[in-house]
Amino acid sequence: MTVKVNDSCIACGACESICSEVFSIEDRAVVNESAVADNIDAVKEAADACPVGAIEVE
Ligand code: SF4
Repeated sequence: MTVKVNDSCIACGACESICSEVFSIEDRAVVNESAVADNIDAVKEAADACPVGAIEVE
């Protein structure tokens, strides 16, 4: 699974609140790809919760 955060991110912090193992906020959310496999359900939850649809899960 590949997880990306696109340019729509407004750095609101919601994804980090849901899954801090994978998401952290700098200028915008960044993905710790090494943690994705162990947190797939939370990543999907974060993607659904993102207010601007910036988290792309493939
Ligand atoms: S929830 Fe979406 S908009 Fe908010 S920080 Fe995460 S990726 Fe960015």
